[in-house]
Amino acid sequence: MPACCQDAAYVCGNAMFMKTHYDLIVIGGGVLGTFHAYEALMQGQRVCLIDKNITPQGSSVQNFGQAVPSGFGVKWQRYGRKSLEIYKHIQSKFDITVRNNGSIYLASNEEEMTLLEELAVINRGQDYSSQLLSAEACRNRYPGLRADYCVGGLFFPEEITLEPREAISRIHQYLREQTALDLYNNTLVIGIDSSDSEVWLRSSDGRSFSGERVLICNGYEFQLLFPEIFAQSDIELVKLQMLLLETQPTQRIPGSILTGLTIRRYESFKECPSYAAIKAKEDPEAYARKWGVHILFKQTPEGSIILGDSHEYADVNQPELLGRELREDLNQFMIAEARKIFDLQTWAVRETWFGMYAQCKTRDIFRHYVDDRVLILTGIGGKGMTASAGYAHYEPIFQ
Ligand SMILES: Cc1cc2nc3c(=O)[nH]c(=O)nc-3n(C[C@H](O)[C@H](O)[C@H](O)COP(=O)(O)OP(=O)(O)OC[C@H]3O[C@@H](n4cnc5c(N)ncnc54)[C@H](O)[C@@H]3O)c2cc1C
Repeated sequence: MPACCQDAAYVCGNAMFMKTHYDLIVIGGGVLGTFHAYEALMQGQRVCLIDKNITPQGSSVQNFGQAVPSGFGVKWQRYGRKSLEIYKHIQSKFDITVRNNGSIYLASNEEEMTLLEELAVINRGQDYSSQLLSAEACRNRYPGLRADYCVGGLFFPEEITLEPREAISRIHQYLREQTALDLYNNTLVIGIDSSDSEVWLRSSDGRSFSGERVLICNGYEFQLLFPEIFAQSDIELVKLQMLLLETQPTQRIPGSILTGLTIRRYESFKECPSYAAIKAKEDPEAYARKWGVHILFKQTPEGSIILGDSHEYADVNQPELLGRELREDLNQFMIAEARKIFDLQTWAVRETWFGMYAQCKTRDIFRHYVDDRVLILTGIGGKGMTASAGYAHYEPIFQ
């Protein structure tokens, strides 16, 4: 870099070189990349965060915004619980859309209730607060909950929700305003070269960035950087269908609502003594099992309801198998199941979309060192909004 240059960037030939030499460059402004940037900033590092879109468009804005460590086994619950602390800490200084209304798991029969009772015992052992609620207590807390659905619930008072379409951009805003983050949106990284002493990045618009280390949190974008590594990985893509129901005029349903099919699906329940026997009785051909449907509700502050979801899977080398279309039969099935759980004031659908995330078939996250200076971290699966902040806090990326 020419010693005479005093600006943020200087031009040399057709390339523009950013002047700052960063301790850490994070590629990917989704929740996983953002909280690794946050951790490095808290340690006093010079950090830049780069995303290819004007605002992030990946998994981190397509989801429910439920932060539910209660759904995880012991290892990931620790990350999730730390995330709750971090989210609440940031919220106390800057509005990132966190609301602390807790999460409820609603049982629809005695088998699911047994699993809730067993999970309550496990959580007591982990010192994680949860409260068993009677059917009546659930109906009092959640207006519109159907008496012929709910036999009881398990409530997690510490858990929070976020507004997925806003939260990540607000966290970026907070980091820019209250820490020293350099944020480069609308910047597509197309190349990375590392030497013994530093790493250089090139973007599609001719800019160059230099740093000590690079963390790539590319979400489910596998064709731009190191495609050969992903092609040989055990990563799979997951497609989830989602609905947004119109604003409920007066009905307000607080927090995250997780229901019977979720109790039969989430990782935390697999640690319950009765889980295997209860699952063994299920019909493997059932429509809900075939399409990985379970029913979750989350109301936004203005009263509309995010409803989902389904799960379809494809190998990282065959993403096109998932298609771009939305299956109307899946949407109708999810609405029909949801109607068995709540009487809502309106079931009119405002929006439907599908979201995607990446996960590994044999590991809980994809963590691959390209060399001493470049790490790829992705494939956090359906756990990212809940666990990323805590994972970034507890798991050092470069020693
Ligand atoms: C429908 C749905 C519902 C979900 N619900 C929940 C939930 O309620 N709770 C929960 O805990 N989790 C939930 N999840 C999971 C969660 O959303 C993901 O685990 C998480 O968002 C993954 O974050 P990420 O940062 O790894 O990926 P992403 O959010 O996809 O971010 C990756 C970013 O990298 C950028 N990028 C990639 N390549 C480049 C490049 N070369 N140059 C520049 N930028 C690049 C992309 O633009 C993108 O912004 C849900 C997921 C989906 C799809």
